[in-house]
This record gives sequence, C-alpha cells and structure tokens, in this order.
Amino acid sequence: MTKTVQDMVILTADRTLMSDYHQHEFVGFGTCAPSNVIPDWLYSFLFFPPIKTNKGIPVAAPYGLRKIEAQLLSEGFNVLTVDPNYLDRYIDQAKVLGIHVMDPFGLGPASSTFASILKKEPFLARYFRSLMTSQTIRKAKKRGLKIIVGGPGVWQFKFRPKFVEEYGIDCIIDGEAEKIVGKIFRMALNDDKLPQYYEVSVKEVPSLEEIPNIVAPSINGLIEIGRGCCRGCKFCSVTLRPLRWYPYKKIMQEISVNIESGYTRGVCLHAEDVMLYGSKNTIPNEDKLVKLHELVLKKCDGAGWSHCSLATIAAKPKTFVKIAEIMKQKQDWWGAEVGIETGSPELAKKIMPAKAHPFKPEEWPEVVRTGMGLMHDNGLVPACTLIVGVPEETEDDLIKTIELMDDLRDIKSLIVPLFFVPMGKLKDEDWFREAEMNELHYELLVKCLRHDLRWIYELIDMSFPNRWYKFFLQSLYKLFVKLIERKIREKRI
Ligand code: SF4
Repeated sequence: MTKTVQDMVILTADRTLMSDYHQHEFVGFGTCAPSNVIPDWLYSFLFFPPIKTNKGIPVAAPYGLRKIEAQLLSEGFNVLTVDPNYLDRYIDQAKVLGIHVMDPFGLGPASSTFASILKKEPFLARYFRSLMTSQTIRKAKKRGLKIIVGGPGVWQFKFRPKFVEEYGIDCIIDGEAEKIVGKIFRMALNDDKLPQYYEVSVKEVPSLEEIPNIVAPSINGLIEIGRGCCRGCKFCSVTLRPLRWYPYKKIMQEISVNIESGYTRGVCLHAEDVMLYGSKNTIPNEDKLVKLHELVLKKCDGAGWSHCSLATIAAKPKTFVKIAEIMKQKQDWWGAEVGIETGSPELAKKIMPAKAHPFKPEEWPEVVRTGMGLMHDNGLVPACTLIVGVPEETEDDLIKTIELMDDLRDIKSLIVPLFFVPMGKLKDEDWFREAEMNELHYELLVKCLRHDLRWIYELIDMSFPNRWYKFFLQSLYKLFVKLIERKIREKRI
C-alpha cells in the first residue's frame, strides 16, 4: 500500500487513560472518582498525571491501543498514536481517528458507585466528554474525519445513542478486534458506509497466532499473558470469551519492547487470573507458572499482576508460596485486583457458581479467608471488590458479607464495595442505585471504609520505593486521605 498523508490513521485515548499513574497501575482507580476534597488540578496530578510525550507522541500508551496499532501497522496502514493534548498538531493529516475507551460515561461498577453516592460526574467520564467535544475533533469532524471507537468500555455507548449521533461516532467495535480492525479502518479510508455498531462474532475472535505483538511501549509495562476466563460468573462479560494463554516467547518478546524502548524495566502481567497461566482448568499448572515467573523476574526489575483469584491460591498454597518467593527476589510486595464479591455461600451459588472451583460454592467464605491469609503472609496486597445490590441479594447475604469483613480485618488489603451494574448474563437486570440502599448496605460500606482507612497509610508508605520524590508524593496522598477522613467525621458517617 502506498502511504499518503490522506491515508493517515491516528489513535488516541482520553487524558485519564494516557497516564502511567506514577507508575502504579492501581492508582489509576482514582480516575473513577468525581471532584472531591482537593482541587481538581491537584487530584489529576496525584491520580492521573499526563504521560511524557515526545512532540505529542506518548512514550507509552494503553496496551489495548498498542495491540490495535500493531495490527494496523502489520496490514500496512499509516498509523500514529498521539497524546490527546497534542491532537491539534496531527489531526489535519488524518482521515480516521481511533479512540480507545475503558469507561467513557462512568457507568462501570467503580465509577457509577462513586457517582451515585457523590452525585457528580467521575473524572474519566468528564475527560472523555471533553475529548469528544474539543474544538480540535469538532473541526476535523466537519471536514470529514471518521471516528471509530473500541475497547472494553464500548458497551456503554448502547446507553448513550444521542451522544453517538451528536458527536459523529461513525463506528463502535465491540470485542477482540485484531481480525476485523483492518477491514473497518480500510472501509473508513475508502469512504465506504461503516456499521454503526460492529460486534465481533465468535468466528472472528483471534487465535493466539492471529494476535500481533505490540511494537511500542505499553503503560506501566502491562503485558497480556492470556485472554478469557473459564469461571462463568453471571455478572461478568469477560466470561463470554474463549480461554487462550500466550506462549513464553510471545510474552518475553513484548516485555523486550518495553525494556528496549527505555520506558520501563518493570512488568504488570495481565490475565483474568494470573495464577492459572497455562492451565486448562481451575487448578494452577505449577511448572508453567514457575517457569513464567523465573523468566520474567530474570529479565525485569520488578513485576505485578493485574488480577488473580482466591480459589486458585487456596487450591495450591505451596505453588503460590513458590511463586511469591520468586516475585520477592526483586521487590518486597506486589499487588493484584481480586474479586471477593460476596461472603454468602447462597449468593455465590446463584451468581458465581464456579468462582470457588475446585472447591464448592458453599465453601466460598472459607476459600476467601484462606486465600486472603496466604496473600497477607506472602507479600501479595490485593485490591478487592464486593458486589452490592445484585438482583438476587437478600438481607441474609448481606449479613454474611459483613461477617466476612470482620474476619478479614487483619489482612493488609483494600476492599471496595461496588454497586451492581447489569453486565454479562445479567445485562437485562436493573442497575442498583444509592436510593435503594438499606441499613445493611450502609453498614457494609462503612465497614469497608474503616478497613481501607486502617490500611491505607501503610500502603502509601510501601509505595513508590524507587522515586526520588517519594516522600513528597506520599505526604500528598496522606494529606488527601486525612481530608477524606475529616469529611467523613463532619458528615457523621
Ligand atoms: S472469575 Fe472474574 S473474570 Fe472470570 S468470570 Fe468471574 S468475574 Fe469474570
């Protein structure tokens, strides 16, 4: 394909996604909150500082965007990934703009919970809106720019059809897009009519061989080690995708891209359950897991996990201890997001019957206690979620979750209650709103708040170990938490 200026495709994401969150992936959860006790400029500096750029080209970008960039480059497209603050410098050269979204309207569980309680728009929704309403994009749109949106947050556009129309979004791609993204972008470049909403079919889901390696750095060195999940929780959309694990070679090649670029020598291994790497069922494959971690820690200065499950850790405690020893060769601790969701065996049975597997759903609270205990003893600090207001939830379920919170008091962790959002097999159910909260819901929220305030100062002290400005950052985060505590006291919560 001969490349011309008119052929150019620009890829971007809003400001809350083009950040490396002071190189702490989990600090990025702060983007789910709305304006609060500190000025917005200070909040954005603390929770989503802009990524460094080279003339507007970000030194790193979200992993999903990098995959699309790699795919389009492999098909001969003229592609440039640009920081949203610098779009005006490049957009005149582009015919198509691809935008990556995670939670564009703040309808995801964390942001909708904050928004419902604080009655304000979350930062991530505000910044997505300001990207779409920017003069730069509006002007380019008038001269015929095509806008294509993709990423895990696209489901939210179904709730905002007017926005899609008003801001001229030409196509929304839902699903793993590697096999079809070239076709759609080519149609846009050729001025062919685009489908407004393109749902990637099962046949179009890429096999491992069809997923290209990233060619430029990913934010915080995040690297996928596999896709899909076999547990089938009813409230989750990930579960609808087939399970595939990347071979070591592919993982190490992508890590090399980050290291050789000079951006980071660290890695965040991404899968729905890192402990199941290479496994075909719910039992960890010790040999594969050990080999992966040995290879990764030999090459990198540090590593983290995106997610892991309590059941896999409880199922093979010795394997987990072995992995923890490898992880701690280069660091004192690491983090991961972990789903607890409920302390009730009855509710677990109804909404996530395989979450405890190989244990029975009836054993879920014990699985949680065992898994959390092992994490605490071995240096894994989990950021946990609970689901509040799921349609079949009873008062008895809530009481059991509150009791479980008491058992987890001494486990170093953050535990965040999230309002139910209709997704996965429960997508036709109703949203849970703050107005529907009963006394038990409030009690659970307050328990979580107490738990988090108990541990947060220690977690701040453990963070940013290699930064010259760590004391400055730590002091600001502590000040922020103190202001929140004061607010809570004032409101007599
Ligand atoms: S274990 Fe996690 S990723 Fe898998 S289906 Fe359940 S909620 Fe989704």
